[in-house]
Amino acid sequence: MNATNPYKTVIGLEVHVQLKTATKLFCRCSTRFGASPNTQVCPVCLGLPGALPVLNAKAIDLAVLAGIALQCKIAPFTKWDRKNYFYPDLPKGYQTSQFDLPICGGGFLEIDSLDPTTGESRRKKISLVRAHLEEDAGKSMHDEVAGRADSRIDLNRAGTPLLEIVSEPELSSAEEAKNYLTEMRLLMMFLGITDGNMQEGSLRADANVNLHLQRDGKTIATPIVEIKNLNSFRAVERAVLYESNRQYVLFRETGLTIGQSPKQTWGWNDATGETEMQREKEDSADYRYFPCPDLVPVALTENEIEVARVAATKTPAIVRKFLIEKHSLKPSEAEVLVQQGRAVIEYFESLVSHGAPPKRATSWMLQDVLRYLNENNVEIESYPVKADSLAKLLLAIESGKLDTTRGKEALIKLIDAPAMCVEKAIESLGIAQVESSELETLCRLLLSENPGVIEKVRAGNTKALAFLVGPAKKINKNVDPRQVQETCQRLIESGRI
Ligand SMILES: [Zn+2]
Repeated sequence: MNATNPYKTVIGLEVHVQLKTATKLFCRCSTRFGASPNTQVCPVCLGLPGALPVLNAKAIDLAVLAGIALQCKIAPFTKWDRKNYFYPDLPKGYQTSQFDLPICGGGFLEIDSLDPTTGESRRKKISLVRAHLEEDAGKSMHDEVAGRADSRIDLNRAGTPLLEIVSEPELSSAEEAKNYLTEMRLLMMFLGITDGNMQEGSLRADANVNLHLQRDGKTIATPIVEIKNLNSFRAVERAVLYESNRQYVLFRETGLTIGQSPKQTWGWNDATGETEMQREKEDSADYRYFPCPDLVPVALTENEIEVARVAATKTPAIVRKFLIEKHSLKPSEAEVLVQQGRAVIEYFESLVSHGAPPKRATSWMLQDVLRYLNENNVEIESYPVKADSLAKLLLAIESGKLDTTRGKEALIKLIDAPAMCVEKAIESLGIAQVESSELETLCRLLLSENPGVIEKVRAGNTKALAFLVGPAKKINKNVDPRQVQETCQRLIESGRI
């Protein structure tokens, strides 16, 4: 709240993360996206009478891993509950979820946030309420076939495992909400918990939004609105901005505060850029939760939790810190690398472990490797030059065997012929090291032919030396431009010409 903003926006996010399992939560149907409607279904996920669910252990492993990475407390004992409601894409009439004993409790996620008073970027901890497992529903397709005014149901998604991660209402701007979702997605993808594909619905968020205002020295709050199914970063940002403004206008008109109006569920319409009222929100009593009689509770062992603890040691936050503190990367450089995902980080680490100097490795990663990946639209696994080869090349440059320009030429050779060894690639450029005595003779010749350059350098204009690089390369293409300039300068300064 400040002079330009008469209210504070309060946001809690519920993020639904689709877990990266091959099969559904309680049956063996595939979770693959994009199959023809209703081809990945069985009596269990169709909810046919008599069909019995069997838990997918992989989903539990991934949920525990997510919980550990988010610093949650992992419940040693967790159970399944039926959340009863009717909806056309929910054939069972209930969703198998977790009510009072979720698998993860508490925890937090750190995000980037701007300090409202200083405008500086800082890290902010967003506390979590809980994270629980549940199955996804099917999909209703409304009039998606041109010319047909009907609705159809695709149950391929029914029964897909979701981890619902609920934050405390500690996000206080649309930008923070977007940053939270971005960091959550990165973390979950980094650890292989989800594929994070938002176009395919692998990560979706609901936002609970209301406003805090000051009246007569007291804080009052507007009624909470839940905005459902935000499936892009931009949608989250736009929906929160729109909704904050709408609630403020409404509050000025009606003066209604929290408690005077029931919690409502609204939908976000990306095309119109507006939220739309859907229904007054049910509270948990309306769902008549009760323990699922078909599924046994899950008791986790200390050993299972320990396995996750080991797997969760490489989170984006830990890697960022490591790159900055251990390898002296700038925070902005570390961020670019981390945003590329875990495989790119592993490639970078491999470069360094093969002896590449971290500073040079960083600049080649950011300029050459990432550009190649973008231009060719491939993942790092398909980058033709393996880390040990690139490390060798970077070492050759570092030791002065070849300059950066020739180094980039050697890299192109390696990309074109990945089986070639680095020595061969350098050799094929016709690069042989120029002896220092040979270099000196060459420089003397150049200076005697260009007395104007000597005068300029003596007058303090050392940039004039760059003029000699072209003629030097004409005489010997293997000379290092930097060495030519340095040698000439030294000769001029010492008067030995
Ligand atoms: Zn099934």
